Amino acid sequence: KLENATLKAELGRATWRFLHTMAARFPDKPTKDERTTFETFIHLFARLYPCGDCAQHFRDILAKYPPQSGSRSAAAGWLCYAHNLVNERLKKPAFDCNTIGDFYDCGCADDDKKKEA
Ligand code: FAD
Repeated sequence: KLENATLKAELGRATWRFLHTMAARFPDKPTKDERTTFETFIHLFARLYPCGDCAQHFRDILAKYPPQSGSRSAAAGWLCYAHNLVNERLKKPAFDCNTIGDFYDCGCADDDKKKEA
């Protein structure tokens, strides 16, 4: 089957948005279980991502730069760094990871407030 670069890029954009939004919602002070869940998720993701060569490259990145899960900023910062490594390979501009703050908004209600309501 022929490669369709448009679909491949669309899947990439949707996936990055999901991953960065997930990291932006990761707890500031994660439990041991939350940390394991995040790290395991990333490793399983890298085995299952449907673009095979993308997944292989991402596994190479993980081998060198394992997922960081000590805090929200560690997780978001690590993912931003990893995405920049992919950008570099694809000759895309680097993203300034210091500005990632409120860039990824899940649009969902705050969980704590929802419980109060
Ligand atoms: P994307 O890279 O998709 O980024 C989307 C948006 O995220 C950008 O417009 C910007 O606003 C923001 N952004 C950019 N960099 C960062 C960052 N570092 N941190 C946070 N936000 C950022 N494609 C291939 O052709 N070959 C590959 O090997 C390949 N590997 C991939 C591996 C993974 C794990 C994923 C998820 C995707 C991969 N892709 C690969 C797809 C590729 O990374 C892009 O998603 C696709 O080319 C579309 O690029 P884009 O220019 O729209 O921006």
